[in-house]
Amino acid sequence: MNIGVVIPAAGSGKRMKSDINKQFLLLDGSPILAHTISKFKQYKKIAEIVTVLRMEDFSYFQNNILNKYKCEDIKVIAGGKTRRESVYAGILSFSPAIDYVIIHDGARPLVSKNLIIRVIEAMEKFPAITTGVPAKDTIKYIDKDLFVKETLNRDKLYYIQTPQAFRYDILKNAHEKVKAEINITDDASLVEMMGQKVKIIDGDYENIKITTPIDLKMAEFLLSEGKE
Ligand code: C5P
Repeated sequence: MNIGVVIPAAGSGKRMKSDINKQFLLLDGSPILAHTISKFKQYKKIAEIVTVLRMEDFSYFQNNILNKYKCEDIKVIAGGKTRRESVYAGILSFSPAIDYVIIHDGARPLVSKNLIIRVIEAMEKFPAITTGVPAKDTIKYIDKDLFVKETLNRDKLYYIQTPQAFRYDILKNAHEKVKAEINITDDASLVEMMGQKVKIIDGDYENIKITTPIDLKMAEFLLSEGKE
């Protein structure tokens, strides 16, 4: 198994209300993205890592992360307008030796080593995997005027996270066959649309996505708790 990891980090981060890419904001003194990348660097089966960035963020990455956090062996490529385009650019950048792919959001720096090991182990058994955790809140389906249409059965709902992992050919095929205009927010949705069964394995509630300023505070807290 030769695994390639794609770390999409080419979002605009509007919800963070910050001037720089939210993934360059500091968490415990290091850029969020440096935390995320470093988590994937120590596994024999992971042969390549590519980070996908907006072109305008290349020089910041080069000057502030590349050498300082020993990321010289990480490939950096330009992303697209959507997360889907960014991930697709990432998977196309791998060498032909890569036969499995892990996708992990740059904005989830608290992914644990145990979780990465769980994903790699599950990849031996399932060709399409997402991590996730059981929903804790009641989730309602709404109409455009914010009236409730339906209350979903919580026992059957999961919050979906990254990492997600796929056999390379399955993921590439899904990116190429599912219509470009279909708006999806994760890669599992694409392979589901191709009829592929996706296995959910246990994620971590701590593996939060840093999207808004409160998430950054939460991540600082979780990181300081973990050190104790
Ligand atoms: O927008 P969302 O929070 O779902 O983004 C998840 C991840 O995808 C983030 O790490 C973000 O930087 C990345 N992304 C990307 N290219 C885009 C949009 C989002 O790489 N065009």
